Amino acid sequence: MSDLEVLVELQELDTRLSQLDHKCKTLPELTQLAELEAEDRQLQSEFAEIEVELSALRNNQNEREIEIQQLEDKVAKATSALYGGDMTSPKEAAALQSEIDSIAGRQSLLEDQIIDLMEKIEPYATEEERIERARRVCSDATKKTQDKISEALSEIEAERLSVEGEKQGVEERAGNELVVLYEDNRKRMGDHTAVGRLVGTSCGACFLEIAAVEIDRIRRLPSDQPSECPECGALLVR
Ligand SMILES: [Zn+2]
Repeated sequence: MSDLEVLVELQELDTRLSQLDHKCKTLPELTQLAELEAEDRQLQSEFAEIEVELSALRNNQNEREIEIQQLEDKVAKATSALYGGDMTSPKEAAALQSEIDSIAGRQSLLEDQIIDLMEKIEPYATEEERIERARRVCSDATKKTQDKISEALSEIEAERLSVEGEKQGVEERAGNELVVLYEDNRKRMGDHTAVGRLVGTSCGACFLEIAAVEIDRIRRLPSDQPSECPECGALLVR
């Protein structure tokens, strides 16, 4: 095996590291999560829209219920005054009776209004329940997706650590000088093309044919001396 074979190993390990990076960023669950988040935002905005109407209607209903309660208290007071025996004059009794009657009229008007309001509230309340249910489903799915993402990420992280460990071993075998040369070439040329295996007379990185005179020169170099492809600059492994 050529002394430069470690370069191919380094490149393969770096390729695996880039693939793991790519895998982290392109987990299908990340797309699912984004879709779920968009769905929840949509539900929240639908909710906000009906809540404006619904709370106005419910406030109206509530105000009328409070007023009815106050009227009932008044009627109870007037009734007990009327039949309580402290009545001083028939005129006073007639006034009380007329107050009770007018309260009853107001009360029945309010009750009709409440029935109207309840009819208006019903479809909104049904929609409110539907949205709340949908948001619960969405939130459960979001949690499950987040769990899957952390599970996948920790698996990838474990694999990354193992590749890093492997890479460290290869770097030790390669020696600092070759590692620096490789890293520089990789920065300059990018992944996958920093190192090329010499296949026959062509470079494995750019696939171009290398001139016979260059091939001769390269083949005569000591086995541990790095050389570059004259066409693309990849480190040649021969
Ligand atoms: Zn080349």
